[in-house]
Amino acid sequence: MICADRPRLSVLILDRGDIGLHRRIEREEVNVSSDAGMWMIDGHSDWLLDIADTKRSFFERSDIGHVDLPRLKEGQISAMMCAVFIRNDDLPHHALIQTLRMVDRLRKIVEQSDGQVRLVETVDDIEKSYQEGSFGAVLHYEGAEAIDPEFTILRLSYALGLRSIGLTWSRSNIFCEGVGEQNRERGLTYLGKELVRRCNQMGILVDVSHLNVAGFWDVLETTKVPIVASHSNARAICNHERNLYDDQIRALARNGGLMGINFARQFLVEGAKEASDVSLDQMVDHVDHIVNLVGIDHVALGSDYDGAGMPEALYDASQTPVLIQALRDRGYDDAAIQKFGRDNWLRVLKQVWK
Ligand SMILES: [Zn+2]
Repeated sequence: MICADRPRLSVLILDRGDIGLHRRIEREEVNVSSDAGMWMIDGHSDWLLDIADTKRSFFERSDIGHVDLPRLKEGQISAMMCAVFIRNDDLPHHALIQTLRMVDRLRKIVEQSDGQVRLVETVDDIEKSYQEGSFGAVLHYEGAEAIDPEFTILRLSYALGLRSIGLTWSRSNIFCEGVGEQNRERGLTYLGKELVRRCNQMGILVDVSHLNVAGFWDVLETTKVPIVASHSNARAICNHERNLYDDQIRALARNGGLMGINFARQFLVEGAKEASDVSLDQMVDHVDHIVNLVGIDHVALGSDYDGAGMPEALYDASQTPVLIQALRDRGYDDAAIQKFGRDNWLRVLKQVWK
């Protein structure tokens, strides 16, 4: 999900339409050259919500939205963080049931997939997904609104497959404040710090995308293991509150974590609205900036497919390799590209998951 403030449901849907999420974009078919052996991990997508909204099947190739199994295969994406997102209108009372419905949706897809989709619970599961040619789905909560103060739901969610959690989706909750909140001084609450500690103990990845700056620093002070900003870009290149300042990027690197490059237009180029407003070169500029600050070990993919309007060149998940090609064209070698595409994610997950 892309919006940084607190839109109501109707505005949210309108925004998603406005940015072209559900419109078929007029385009030339691009022939993506297959990069043998280059399988990728994508750190963020909202397809779990979008396939239900648009009533499409995960198993059939569609022109609607960005993600389905055939397009993931074409895009060489072997594993992905699959977000459970709660709409404002479902807060607070329906957060839990909506969360469980989306978890159930993912688990049903795994059951119906005849081995084509695997629920990822370990790093081994990701490797197996690649080796057997299946898709590895990592269950991620984009916001902790369903989690109770005694962490019962966190423990039960872990048993259902939860392996990654964002503390908020740009909103205020019992744990923290999101980006765009009035109170920018307030970081994590006591419960928010406790949530980070519990996630560390249980082996659940903590994601700071959508968290405000004060909360970001509190998470870093509290965590004992690497954290991620799964879908945030460099604020020095695009001054949007969903992106990270340079001192945040340096701290994330010291922590051993990573940030996933978000393909959402408005997080790449200030004021970008149309698909044609963002070039691949401008995307690579974000990677360059982060690499110049902290090296290649802390930048990865976090597309936001099915949660945001994409640049023209990356109109859906099948096109992901064009970004890899753009990095090659900028001079990145195989080792660097492999880190960006998957190895940085694998390193962090190995350190966090039990
Ligand atoms: Zn998001």
